[in-house]
Amino acid sequence: MIGPVRAGQPWPRYRYRWWDGVNAMVCQQAFRDADTAWSNWLSRSREGLGYPRPKQRGRCRDSFRMPGVGLVPENLRHIRIGGERRPGGQKAFRVRLHRPAYRLARLLQRGGEVQMVTISRSGPRWFAAFNVRLPATPAAVATRAQRERGTVGVDLGVEVISATSRPIQLQKVATQLVANPRHLANARRALAKWERRKARRWVKGRPAREQSRGWHEAKDHMAKPHAQIAAHRADTQHHLTKALATQFARAVIEDLQVKNMSKSAKGTLEEPGSMVRQKAGLNRALLDVSFGEIRRQLTYKTAWYGSTLSAVNPAYTSQTCHRCGHVDRKSRRTRSVFQCTACGAEVHADIGAAHNIAARDERTATPGG
Ligand SMILES: [Zn+2]
Repeated sequence: MIGPVRAGQPWPRYRYRWWDGVNAMVCQQAFRDADTAWSNWLSRSREGLGYPRPKQRGRCRDSFRMPGVGLVPENLRHIRIGGERRPGGQKAFRVRLHRPAYRLARLLQRGGEVQMVTISRSGPRWFAAFNVRLPATPAAVATRAQRERGTVGVDLGVEVISATSRPIQLQKVATQLVANPRHLANARRALAKWERRKARRWVKGRPAREQSRGWHEAKDHMAKPHAQIAAHRADTQHHLTKALATQFARAVIEDLQVKNMSKSAKGTLEEPGSMVRQKAGLNRALLDVSFGEIRRQLTYKTAWYGSTLSAVNPAYTSQTCHRCGHVDRKSRRTRSVFQCTACGAEVHADIGAAHNIAARDERTATPGG
């Protein structure tokens, strides 16, 4: 990013014009974050932390973070960036919010302190995410209704985003199956047109920022539906995870290695993969429902609402009979029909799997755990 500065050259105002338009704290925070990323990598403090990946504006999620941002208390509709305005000091300004930040105001009223704000862009909109430190609160306890409903087994899938061993209340309807809204598949058709236009207008051998206005127009057109898809998907996931965390005392999911599941289906030269095409489609859909995100949400939401989360071994959950425990691949008649070859019990395949998941937790549960 920053090249050598030769003697006699003004620095950095002249060479780095963008510097003037950026709040100093943003740059400081970026350097601090980069430092953390490198020391994490060097010390191998957490497993799975690799070499820091460089980011570039327009090539990744556009975002920055900075400390020292506050909510304007008198109207809750503005945030103040860059601290107090004082003559000759840090540039400070206000940004109006799309709607009043009631939730943030409540947290601040309870003694919360804003640590950091992350500003990010999704399509045409900008978002501000506040990181608030709250004074210690007593741990949440499951309500009586939660305890009465007990444990729920959850089978996360592709066509059916979730099947549960017990009905959950979702938007005032009790249901055991939540269909995948297929946001991406629906929008893909609409996007195809702009995708083609974008491809036609691409001039080879030129970086993105030097492409024509027409190319950028097509790109901006695509950004909006993509942002809407992301918002819809997030909405579905949050409804589901909140229902699971608030309506039961314990949620049980499969301990899936999402990274392995979405790994390329091509296999290796020695072990070529089978059904490469089908799996490629499946992988895309798997990422679409994003298991990892659902698990992440369940982890913190169960803590918020006094319930617990458990992840069990996923082996054969879809081939086991939930009545008699007989394991047979043939019991699974179709994608959705499960009919046990031993005892003849019939059940929706995904709900059967959800029952197995819940049962597996009871078997492995530690006393008091
Ligand atoms: Zn059976």
